[in-house]
Order: sequence, then C-alpha cells, then structure tokens
Amino acid sequence: MTAQRALEILESIMLAVEPSGTPAPLEESNEAFPVLVSTVISLRTRDAVTRTVSARVLQSAPDVISMISIDIEELEILLRPAGFFRQKAKQLKQIAEIIQNRFEGKVPGNIEDLLSLPGVGRKTANFVLGMVFGKPAICVDIHVHRISNRLGLACTSSPEETELQLQKIFPSEYWIGINHTMVTFGQRICKPVKPRCEICPLNTICPQKS
Ligand code: SF4
Repeated sequence: MTAQRALEILESIMLAVEPSGTPAPLEESNEAFPVLVSTVISLRTRDAVTRTVSARVLQSAPDVISMISIDIEELEILLRPAGFFRQKAKQLKQIAEIIQNRFEGKVPGNIEDLLSLPGVGRKTANFVLGMVFGKPAICVDIHVHRISNRLGLACTSSPEETELQLQKIFPSEYWIGINHTMVTFGQRICKPVKPRCEICPLNTICPQKS
C-alpha cells in the first residue's frame, strides 16, 4: 500500500470517530513516572479499572522513592482489581529501584532503556516515548494490530511486525496519534467481535468487511 493511500485511510478513521478524551494511562498525570506506572497497570486491564487503580496507586506511591518504600503487600491490595496484580506489584517496585539506581531517579527517554525495565514491552515503551517525551513512536496494542490488518495497512501476525510495517507507510509526524485514533475506532466501530461494518465509512474498501 502506498503512503498516500494509508494516509487517506487514517484520515477516514479520524473523521469517523473524532478521537476525544484522554487515554486511561494519562488520566492522573502526564509526568513520566506516573504515566509509566499507569501504563503497566493498564496491561490486560479494562480502561475503567486502569483509571480507578492508577488513582489509588499513585496516591500512595506518586514517585520513584515512594514506590520503592511502599510495602509490596500494600501495593498488591491497591492493585488488586487489575489483572496480574501480584506480578505488577513486583514489577513496579523493581522498575522504581532500577530507575533510581541506574537512571538517577528519572524515567529514561529512549526505547532501549525503557525496554530494559521489568514488564515494559514495546507497547508500553512506545506509549511513554510518544506521550511523555514527544518522540515519534507507534504504540501498537490489540486494536491497532487488528485494525491495521483488517484494512490492509499491515499483513502481520504480531504487534511488533505491525509496528514495523506502520513505520514504513506513515510519516513519523503521524506515529504518536495512531494509537488513540485506532483505539477509539476499535472500541466504537471496528470491534474485535461483530465489527459494525454497516456504519463503517471504510466498508467500501475494507477487505475484511463482514
Ligand atoms: S468495514 Fe468492518 S472490518 Fe472493515 S474496518 Fe470497517 S468495521 Fe472494521
């Protein structure tokens, strides 16, 4: 697919859903550490739960030092409605310790160092890079992966491959906004099960229209 065609599709998606609101991990703060914490909490967790749990956790542990200090059992209780809460409690404490000891207390602003943190994969790292540091990065979650493949923007079997293919067809100034646009489209129209093809403005060109 040409870059021109890909941009036309992205613009149609933007027109269809007019992304609004704040992504759940940015609800509490746009500072690096709280965003990183909320993004880790958001993994395999619904947005509504992410918002509630992030607010509670960040009230008790808003920065690196307080995250290091908080008792892990207390952190597990705060995290409990979120998926994999025990694992996340352990990871958040490890992340805070590594940031303090290796990165002078500051969340690193590059992909390699972010990926070295426990529980931080490309999705989380790219979200933080784009949303906090304003660096070109495509956060590919299940929505972005699914929609890109349904519309022929990518032909891949993993989010990592999708990220690489999207990087090739979209100019870098579009990268940060792709996630919020496609997530909104995926929640309202191109749903995982029973996509609403009958109201989708892309149904005349979509290869996967049902
Ligand atoms: S036509 Fe259906 S499958 Fe294709 S993008 Fe629209 S909602 Fe998704």
